[in-house]
Amino acid sequence: PVDRLPEIQEARLRLPILAEEQVIMEAVREKECVVLSGETGSGKTTQVPQFLYEAGYASSGGIIGVTEPRRVAAISMSHRVATEMNLPSGVVSYQIRYEGNVTENTKIKFMTDGVLLKEIQKDFLLQKYSVVIIDEAHERSVYTDILIGLLSRIVPLRNKKGLPMKLIIMSATLRVEDFTENKRLFRTPPPVIKVEARQFAVTVHFNKRTPVDNYTGEAFRKICKIHRMLPPGGILVFLTGQAEVHSVCRRLRKAFPYRPHREHKDSMETEEDLKKSKRAKKKKNMSLPRINLDSYSALPVDEGDEDRQAGIDDNDNEGSDLELGDHPDSDHEEKADPSIPLYVLPLYSLLAPEQQAKVFRPPPAGARLCVVATNVAETSLTIPGIKYVVDCGRVKKRFYDRVTGVSSFKVTWISQASANQRAGRAGRTEPGHCYRLYSSAVFGDFSLFSEAEITRRPVDDLVLQMKDLNIEKVVNFPFPTPPSSEVLISAEQLLISLGALEEPPRRGRLAEMERARLSCPITPLGRAMAAFPVAPRYAKMLALGRQQGCMPYIITIVAAMTVREIFEDYDRPAGSEEESTKMAGKKARCVQMRRLWAGHGQSVQLGDLMVLLGAVGACEFAGCTHQFCEENGLRYKAMLEIRRLRGQLTNAVNAVCSDAGVYVDNKMAPPTASQVLCLRQIVLAGLGDHIARRVQFASDSTPLLDDPVFIHPSSALHKMLPEFVVYQEIMETTKMYMRGVCAVQAE
Ligand code: ADP
Ligand code: MG
Repeated sequence: PVDRLPEIQEARLRLPILAEEQVIMEAVREKECVVLSGETGSGKTTQVPQFLYEAGYASSGGIIGVTEPRRVAAISMSHRVATEMNLPSGVVSYQIRYEGNVTENTKIKFMTDGVLLKEIQKDFLLQKYSVVIIDEAHERSVYTDILIGLLSRIVPLRNKKGLPMKLIIMSATLRVEDFTENKRLFRTPPPVIKVEARQFAVTVHFNKRTPVDNYTGEAFRKICKIHRMLPPGGILVFLTGQAEVHSVCRRLRKAFPYRPHREHKDSMETEEDLKKSKRAKKKKNMSLPRINLDSYSALPVDEGDEDRQAGIDDNDNEGSDLELGDHPDSDHEEKADPSIPLYVLPLYSLLAPEQQAKVFRPPPAGARLCVVATNVAETSLTIPGIKYVVDCGRVKKRFYDRVTGVSSFKVTWISQASANQRAGRAGRTEPGHCYRLYSSAVFGDFSLFSEAEITRRPVDDLVLQMKDLNIEKVVNFPFPTPPSSEVLISAEQLLISLGALEEPPRRGRLAEMERARLSCPITPLGRAMAAFPVAPRYAKMLALGRQQGCMPYIITIVAAMTVREIFEDYDRPAGSEEESTKMAGKKARCVQMRRLWAGHGQSVQLGDLMVLLGAVGACEFAGCTHQFCEENGLRYKAMLEIRRLRGQLTNAVNAVCSDAGVYVDNKMAPPTASQVLCLRQIVLAGLGDHIARRVQFASDSTPLLDDPVFIHPSSALHKMLPEFVVYQEIMETTKMYMRGVCAVQAE
């Protein structure tokens, strides 16, 4: 029996999915797997776990598990469901990569898809769970795809063993056939239940012209117009990344300043406090950390998040968006008009949950709500009261060149399906309008659907995980959308060269060899590597880390390499002369510190990795304080993440080899000369195929066979130019730059 508050009960009854409860639960009772598709906002994520709970699926010890491709959704949906059910977070809990509140009593568990995949490695039959719900399946995140493939086998196995289990795949109303019509996945197609949502008409307005690059400016002007001229109703704006979100928020706040009244004290108190602290900060003359969306590092494949691809954010201090409002803005097109206040809120994946929760609360009386969001608002979160949608038509994605391995982040057009999802956000409570900042001709050229993520990225980590699950013939795996065989082959190749898979035989006919190459069994080293929550290259480094007491250093280097950009960016354009002077000063300090951290003597050869090691060492020595980071050009949030990851990797190493006896040392001495040599060898073992050799440029020389890559001026090895280097990855910005460079000893 669930004891819900009356107002919650009332709100639930308005959700379209409530009318389908019987139908859904009957299908779940009768079938192993059910597909549920319904418009965003119809109540799938919040209600289905409750239906299952009330039908007793959590009453005989089993857990109701729900996977989400995004951390935001896992956290906020667990909070929401706990609130609706009037149950504590120890019962309706969440688990994401680094944190969670799961207890012995947990009955409903929201988690990212990566978390459940790891659990399958520990217990293939997932015996803890009575039901698994794969939510947002239409997003086609890699882990979601793999989970569906695995669960299509696990569920029948469980039922055969007399340990019944159910699978529910939930999706927006998009291409459900990828799951149902895929005979390799489900021999008999699972039933599809469609939830019809009351959707009001949305009038779509196309721009006559399509702005080439300044779509944020166009978005700003459109919002101003809507706000000045159109009847009440919330505005939801889709942009591509955090930096854009903050910049548009800042301009809007300036144009339509919103001053909280005394009467709305409860909801506004925090705003007031923020403003106060903002003023205090201004006095102290501190500048704010900002986001550099052009610099990244490879992350281990992790829970899906569009901000995962866009660099870790800077919302460490909760008022950051407000504070950003202080930066002088060169744009004078709108005069501040406090007579029509606009309540502006940012929304993106890694925004702190308290900040995100604000979008669900009604705006203060007399002010119009305007949410400036990234793609998260497309399907994961539903914001009440939206009547106008402004869609820039773009999304930020990581692109990966299969041939060169170069990654870059690009803003590209969305698909028609995405555009329609976005438009649909406007018609939830009454008829709405969608303003597309592009022409109908451009829309006509959009692809119909977005590609599944698995077809767009390397899969070495997935192949290793699957081999560890004893799936030897990864080519035969029932992927909802299979990756190309070329990508699978290069993943197996990398894993063979890392020693994680056995070498295939070199005899026999070509075709046989080809086939053997795609079904190499995992080695004991591969098993150890699979136990580490990082990509195979880094796992290899950890596996070798015990030599000469290098483990604590390797753990630290790997942790730092897998966290995106640990340094502040001082090259961004400054808003004023004063700010630019301040930034120049900070930059000088940061350059000086980097030189210091790069060490001297042998250490220098470790290059950028020594800088990482030195920076983390110094920061931890100082107690990893916000102040230390601020003074030395480090990103506080990144340092905290490194700290967590060091702890996690240390535990993993101790678990894999019980006699390793490593611990997290916050007073780490610098590595000795022989340790530095050893560290370089270990790094080379993981990055052996990422080697570059110095070439001489001569104006008359014959052209190079390959495009050259460069050592970035900010690299510790920029001046030294060793003959051979290994690099973590190549990012293409203005040039092809190597990141994370370390000198290789030439024999
Ligand atoms: P779906 O999964 O079908 O997209 P949800 O279950 O996420 O739908 O949301 C159903 C409704 O619950 C939404 O219309 C939204 O308004 C409301 N809702 C969801 N989360 C919250 C929240 N944190 N606070 C208030 N209302 C919420
Ligand atoms: Mg949902």
